[in-house]
Amino acid sequence: MGRPPILPAVLPPVRDDLAELVGYHSAQVDVDVRLNTNESPYPPPAAWREAFVAELDGVAYHRYPDRRARALRAAIGELHGVGADQVVAANGSNEVLQALCLAYGGPGRAAATFEPTYALHSHIARITGTGVVSGQRRDDFTLDPAEVRRVLATARPAITFLCTPNNPTGLVEPQELVEAAVAAAPGLVVVDEAYAQFAPWSALSLVAADRPLVVTRTFSKTWAMAGMRLGYLVGPPEVVEACERVLLPYHLDAATQAAGRLALRYTAEMEARVAAVVAERERLAAALRELAAQVWPSGANFLLFRPARDADLVWKGLVERSVLVRNCSSWPRLAGCLRVTVGTAAENDAFLSALREVLT
Ligand code: PMP
Repeated sequence: MGRPPILPAVLPPVRDDLAELVGYHSAQVDVDVRLNTNESPYPPPAAWREAFVAELDGVAYHRYPDRRARALRAAIGELHGVGADQVVAANGSNEVLQALCLAYGGPGRAAATFEPTYALHSHIARITGTGVVSGQRRDDFTLDPAEVRRVLATARPAITFLCTPNNPTGLVEPQELVEAAVAAAPGLVVVDEAYAQFAPWSALSLVAADRPLVVTRTFSKTWAMAGMRLGYLVGPPEVVEACERVLLPYHLDAATQAAGRLALRYTAEMEARVAAVVAERERLAAALRELAAQVWPSGANFLLFRPARDADLVWKGLVERSVLVRNCSSWPRLAGCLRVTVGTAAENDAFLSALREVLT
């Protein structure tokens, strides 16, 4: 004779517009050579580690961190020759992109992407209730300015995402294309420069207080700090204020703020890491051109390629040889494609010899 149940026995459904969405994942497999998530193959310098550990010793852990991350934003601003009022820092550039979508997107508004591109642009737009309009790149994955004009004129997006160098293709957008997009956009243009230090130019110099353009950057790649989760944007002060309205209070913890601020003292070391990766990228690209049916030119720290054999089999064969790359072959328009992050010389050699074995 039990009591009749008074607690509900079913969980409520999630938001209708999330029902179809799956989370964003990269297969993680235990391997010796991990070349799947575009991290830096080198750790930050030992001097940074020491400075960071010393700084942690002085953190007032019982107090909230500086809500506005003033010292970090001032240091980032100094790096780019702008004031702290033109910088938003957050937990990875993904959180910056989310803040932009929360502030400028939302129900009844749209974000434009040009596919194939970084999947999180459309994903974050959707989870913030923003509509997504997808323009298409040409067959060679370059972006036709006429397609940009068409999408902006017909969909009137509140946010236009560009990504240069573009993930996962590696292609660098020409400066004229970014300028034309800013001139034609009815809303904000967001240039995602997660990989810009590996590329020949940056849109940072185009940012101005009265121009609807923001550039996002990350500490995850060139600054070798993917484990700390830190990204930022440089843009007009008005956009910074808009982001501050939607970010949670104290979203950026004291340790991350210190880590980023101290990292900027080691710019020369960062540039040396970037130069080493760029040199390895060119060596890897040349070797891949001998092995793969197609290799796209890259301005980033990864290469997109299409092996002449079935990509799923090649991916599995590489995993069996303890090398993990990104399998893009099920992604729209990327049938048969794999993406490899540029590693250390030894990692790249391990990848190349595994690939040679798999292909022969
Ligand atoms: N933008 C692009 C184009 C990326 O490839 C990535 C990382 N994969 C990010 C943003 C996100 O970087 P994070 O959140 O680590 O700063």
